[in-house]
Amino acid sequence: MSGARPPDGGTELGGIPKVPTVGWIREDALEAFYEGTERTPEPGPPAQPIFRCPFCISVFSVQRELHDHVYKTHRVERPVMFLGGTEPTGRAVVRVPVGRSAIVVANATAVRIGIDGRDPQRCLPDAVPKKLADTKQGEMKLVLLNESQVNAEPVSTHYTISFRIADAIDLKRVEEAFAEILVSSSITRDAISRFLVDQRTQGASKEYAVGLGNYCLGVLIKERPASEHLTTPLARYRELYGSALQILADFDRPLARLIAGIIRFAMNDFQEAGSSTGYWELDLARMLLNDPGRTTMPSSDTTAKRRPICPIDHGTARILALAARLSTQS
Ligand SMILES: [Zn+2]
Repeated sequence: MSGARPPDGGTELGGIPKVPTVGWIREDALEAFYEGTERTPEPGPPAQPIFRCPFCISVFSVQRELHDHVYKTHRVERPVMFLGGTEPTGRAVVRVPVGRSAIVVANATAVRIGIDGRDPQRCLPDAVPKKLADTKQGEMKLVLLNESQVNAEPVSTHYTISFRIADAIDLKRVEEAFAEILVSSSITRDAISRFLVDQRTQGASKEYAVGLGNYCLGVLIKERPASEHLTTPLARYRELYGSALQILADFDRPLARLIAGIIRFAMNDFQEAGSSTGYWELDLARMLLNDPGRTTMPSSDTTAKRRPICPIDHGTARILALAARLSTQS
């Protein structure tokens, strides 16, 4: 031990300070880390992957099997409703009574129905046809739910349906007001306004009156009588004819059929040219334009007493008169 000095805290040993340095601490930690990596786990078979079904207790070792299982066992179809053979999309308007047999609900386990903003009531899909068939007026929000999978969010389909069903007596009163205000004298904007505020055109039958009113406004805009000082562009008549047609096409009444026929004719739509409007010139012109080679034509009943039913624009009237003249010449 000669020559060696006993360790003495704080004194120099071989020129190196005996104070632990940062470098020492680091080396320690690194060593511990390396030591950890050297400890290899016990060798054994790799863990099997497990695919659990989110809807039931089934477990699969192959993802493809889980996929097939979910597809076969837990597929949830979108619930759907049909009104008279079509699915009511967007904002559907029901103007004529719908029979219960025309209402079909599929893939639904429950239904929520709310009318006019009231709290929705839950019911079974079987109750839907009666509920819809019994509704005459109101805004219905209908949610079909498919809750067939207990552990899954239900699949839902939302419908908003406006019921605006008037009875025949109300519709007849609208037609009386129409004949009195808009047929017996020339159409003016003032007359259309009077028709639309008339007591007979209010309530459930308002929709029908609006259809007739839009048609008359369309005729007025197309005709542009000098007395009316119209600033509305001529092109707007097509828009008004279109909205009138959309409403009137739903009403199974002679006046509605006639005006719908005139509008389709005026807008070059001959899709339903085969159906009779009861207005001989119109039926004839539609058939001629639809099928020029046709040999049988509706015959005119010149002896029948005719009375004005609805206003018509001059352009359409001239074409109808021409068609009638052509058919009597041949
Ligand atoms: Zn499952």
